[in-house]
Amino acid sequence: MANFNPIKDDVFLLQYVWLAGDQSLRSKTRTYYQRINDVSDIPKWNYDGSSCGQAPGEDSEIILVPCALFRDPFRKNLPFSHIQSFLVLCKSKTVDGKPALGCNREYAEVIFKNRMHEEPWYGIEQEYTLFEKDSVTPLGWPKHNGKLGFPAPQGPYYCAAGTNNIIGREIVEEHYMACLEAGIRVSGINAEVMLGQWEYQVGPCEGLSAGDELWMSRYIMERICEKHDVVVSWDPKPIQGDWNGAGCHTNFSTKTMRENGSEEYVMRLMEKFKENHMDHISVYGEGNERRLTGAHETSPITEFSFGVADRGCSIRIPRDFHDCNYKSGYIEDRRPASNMDPYLVTAKIAETCIDNM
Ligand code: ADP
Ligand code: MN
Ligand code: MN
Ligand code: MN
Repeated sequence: MANFNPIKDDVFLLQYVWLAGDQSLRSKTRTYYQRINDVSDIPKWNYDGSSCGQAPGEDSEIILVPCALFRDPFRKNLPFSHIQSFLVLCKSKTVDGKPALGCNREYAEVIFKNRMHEEPWYGIEQEYTLFEKDSVTPLGWPKHNGKLGFPAPQGPYYCAAGTNNIIGREIVEEHYMACLEAGIRVSGINAEVMLGQWEYQVGPCEGLSAGDELWMSRYIMERICEKHDVVVSWDPKPIQGDWNGAGCHTNFSTKTMRENGSEEYVMRLMEKFKENHMDHISVYGEGNERRLTGAHETSPITEFSFGVADRGCSIRIPRDFHDCNYKSGYIEDRRPASNMDPYLVTAKIAETCIDNM
């Protein structure tokens, strides 16, 4: 083994990131000395699947297959340094080549393979709630004799400014900047309706990159929260009662919708969404029935509906799309929950919207 050459050689710090069986995000680091030009240059690796709920102890190896490359915003790449840091999103496979529990990327790969001629674009609105370390108290909420109290009712918090109506902004800003540094296409951020709840949007991203970028943005959020000693909840209804839940509205367009749409095309799409409603709901997130009640800007989980500019529908058609006679635009699927798997949701939408159109 040759010694490190301080003039010629670079060091690459590779943070391999993957999904455990319960879809919690896990990662570990490897120092690597060979030049990297592309994700395909990064070697496979493995981990202890028995500690991630994905394999039995006696045959525990799970293989990591690098899929998408990002810059590491945590290990700063100093100017003129020979150290370069990357985040490597991986899929997990068992030794006999099957996807490990919790890893649905390969399922999405299969769906997108024959559907990319329609160039499916996704813009995902990730809502989430910040909690104190106890995971019980949303950030900024009062406590009375150790029990959770309530802030003033919803109204002043959405997109607010001011000390009494906003909490956690420095965390949100840090996440925003870290995602952009990583190369994730965050298109915006906003404070949400419940105190402690926020949103960022990822997109538009084409095909598989939507799932890759959203998963990595969640990983980055977990890491930012560590630094601030807070907890992020992806639960779709973290506080019961008259408080908004958290969703992952998925905005979607095909090439046809963007360039050559028509009312007939969009109505046919709505017909297909209606036929497949429960099939979609089945992959739109755990506990979504607590959120899709028909109140708090949602539609009931058992009914499909659509409407122009209507936030009480399953699918909202933006006003602009309607006003141009459906020539060019996108639709918003409001059903997915904040904890949904973007590989499953994007793939399911592609299936419904591209096949037999
Ligand atoms: P809302 O008005 O529902 O809060 P947002 O502004 O939060 O919507 O999110 C809209 C998302 O839709 C953004 O991520 C944006 O990039 C994305 N988007 C815009 N145009 C398209 C398109 N043609 N196809 C898919 N997504 C799109
Ligand atoms: Mn939004
Ligand atoms: Mn929102
Ligand atoms: Mn929305």
